[in-house]
Amino acid sequence: MTASAAEEQGRCVVNVAAASASYDIIIGAGVLAQAGEKLAAVLPGRRAIVVTDENVAGLYLQVFSQSLRAAGFSLADPVILPPGEETKNFSQLQHIIESCLAQKLDRKSAVIALGGGVVGDIAGFAASMLMRGVNFVQVPTTLLAQVDSSVGGKTAVNTKQGKNLAGAFYQPKIVLIDTEVLKTLPAREMKAGYAEVLKYALINDPAFFEWLDGNHAAVLSGDAAALSHAIAVSCRAKAEVVAADEREEKDIRALLNLGHTFGHALEALGGYDGRLLHGEAVGIGLGLAYGFSAAQGICPPEDAARVERHLSDAGLMTSPPFAVTAAQVLEKMRGDKKASEGKMTLVLAKGIGQAFVAKDADEGAVLAFLQARTGT
Ligand code: ADP
Ligand code: ZN
Repeated sequence: MTASAAEEQGRCVVNVAAASASYDIIIGAGVLAQAGEKLAAVLPGRRAIVVTDENVAGLYLQVFSQSLRAAGFSLADPVILPPGEETKNFSQLQHIIESCLAQKLDRKSAVIALGGGVVGDIAGFAASMLMRGVNFVQVPTTLLAQVDSSVGGKTAVNTKQGKNLAGAFYQPKIVLIDTEVLKTLPAREMKAGYAEVLKYALINDPAFFEWLDGNHAAVLSGDAAALSHAIAVSCRAKAEVVAADEREEKDIRALLNLGHTFGHALEALGGYDGRLLHGEAVGIGLGLAYGFSAAQGICPPEDAARVERHLSDAGLMTSPPFAVTAAQVLEKMRGDKKASEGKMTLVLAKGIGQAFVAKDADEGAVLAFLQARTGT
């Protein structure tokens, strides 16, 4: 069956051809209950362990495990982590690895991440280290993880010094995306994930932006066909970038940071206390990247206005829910990178779907733009 024929039947397969590995992303409604047969087709052994969090375990662990057992898998006791970003630490990483070893998983066994980005990141890192690397499977259950963190092989935990500072590039054997699980995802998490979907449209796909402009309500309300389409287009976009630049060694993968330099700065200023989710910060950052591009005369002001209007229409934030000054934002945007002669690298846009990496954005201009935006 071709990818488009499969899409009509509510199933879509996107291949990721990374330099280190090639694997499929299977997208559709009800994929979770067919997980067993899909995994049996790609895994060398029939022993596996599921890593998940308490919320997802309560909702989906049973149906998922049943499907695996029916396909002949012998499952170790699952590792059920506390939900939330704080879980992405070294002590939980050790806990996962030692649970696997204590239950005698071997090199043919698989570690399966069933959950959002937190679970995928830490379980993937554990899989990369366990006996120097065992089979890994991603079953992302948040929109953000489905369109972004589960694709591309980045795994990590957080350290005292910052987020995701210890990790590995480690590709899964397969990614299973069930659009039905998004029905239980809180609306706020759904909108946060949508910001990453919008990002792909804004990077290089103006036709996808037009589609989203007409269909964001269907996507956000969980319409299965609209969601499958939006997720498939997003995964395909990310897969293309990963195929060209798996380890972020060229400028290509940097394009995925559209909205992120502004967004990460706001996220950090919020102190990661739950007032501003990553995706929410990215949404604001997309608006700022377009606003700044327009202020610089790089992008037509109408395009920047359209992005801002789309964010509002979709119910995304366009400014943070706490006060920030322009100087604070700029300081965080600089990060630890030493500014070279007042220039910084930003992803900017010449219009909708026309993002590019600007290595010489002027810090003074960024500051003036932020001052105008924040009134500080
Ligand atoms: P992200 O994927 O955005 O990085 P997390 O892994 O922290 O985020 O997941 C966000 C929250 O959503 C967590 O509390 C997690 O337990 C919960 N969650 C994940 N998937 C689902 C789902 N399908 N239904 C309900 N809650 C979910
Ligand atoms: Zn992001």
